Amino acid sequence: MEDPKKEQLENLNALKYSSEHLLGLVNDILDFNKIASGSLELEERDFSLEHILNGIHSIFHIKAKEKNLKFTIKKDHSLPEMFKGDSTRVAQVITNLINNAIKFTEKGRVTLDVDLADEMQDAYLVEFKITDTGIGIPKNKKDKIFNSFAQANSDTTRKYGGTGLGLAICKKLLEFMGSDLFVDSKVGKGSEFSFFLSLKKSDKTSLQNNEYEIDTPDCNKLDNLKGVKILVAEDNKLNILVIKKFLKKWQVNFDIAENGLLALDKALTNSYDMILMDLQMPVMNGFDTSMAIRETNIPLNKVIPIYALSASTGIDIKHKIEEFGMNGLITKPFNPSELYRTLSKIIFNKHVS
Ligand code: ADP
Repeated sequence: MEDPKKEQLENLNALKYSSEHLLGLVNDILDFNKIASGSLELEERDFSLEHILNGIHSIFHIKAKEKNLKFTIKKDHSLPEMFKGDSTRVAQVITNLINNAIKFTEKGRVTLDVDLADEMQDAYLVEFKITDTGIGIPKNKKDKIFNSFAQANSDTTRKYGGTGLGLAICKKLLEFMGSDLFVDSKVGKGSEFSFFLSLKKSDKTSLQNNEYEIDTPDCNKLDNLKGVKILVAEDNKLNILVIKKFLKKWQVNFDIAENGLLALDKALTNSYDMILMDLQMPVMNGFDTSMAIRETNIPLNKVIPIYALSASTGIDIKHKIEEFGMNGLITKPFNPSELYRTLSKIIFNKHVS
């Protein structure tokens, strides 16, 4: 409906809410029945844990940002990249738990920790832990929340929506995978949901090119960068045209600053996920601009990734870039898939440590 009146808008929003709620309920019930009737079959395929975490990050960092929450994924570096198992079901459990964590948290942070707990001959024991600083769960409700259609408080549906099926499904799925779901929580302080999964070792060290697009990014398809906010400091009109075209396609939110001083001004008044910095610009060059950004007393500006855009790749330039507080170099002219891969990696690494 174009240009709806205020009360029509309210009705439309209510309708949208109920249809989304209904769809969620139907999907949950279908899943629940499948598990309960034993007709669920687990797949066993090679999968990249990095790929799953990357996907989870791209969905939830936007949701968390909307609520001003800090969302971090911390992955144990000793974990291998590849495993064998049902990655969809693993992702479903994690997604459900993070969704709840964000839903029931108004202030603070939500964290996903993935740790190697043990190594067996043909499998790894991996611990997944989702922690939030939200409303918490009363002691006497802790066991009940795993029952189907159960919510901790009677006003939960009205306040937060949901069906009361999510946790029951997670628990059943985990039981199906030979595991269990644990909860530790303090009212008003937050909750911690955790589970261990025994994931089989894979013969592969990474995904083949045709198995997942991130290795051969088809930048027309991926929406990894959707909603990410980037500042591009660049004065060359042609470069601006090219970079704009791709950033739009990848649904990145971006600002362009056509000289160093404008870039500094924008960095002072906005919060970006990263900055792309041309080195030769009028008014103030990229080196001085980066240094000036680092020296502002805004905490974000001390850590925000700043990547130089340059045609030269020599060792001298790399040293100078470091000296002036930049994190790395993206070479010009732009190769879209290379640019995409580099941006994804930078943004992803910022959150997965
Ligand atoms: P819902 O669809 O209501 O989220 P769930 O089965 O996922 O259903 O959760 C059941 C109930 O457990 C929720 O209604 C809420 O009361 C409580 N709960 C789940 N996760 C959290 C959390 N992270 N923090 C606080 N309460 C939670």
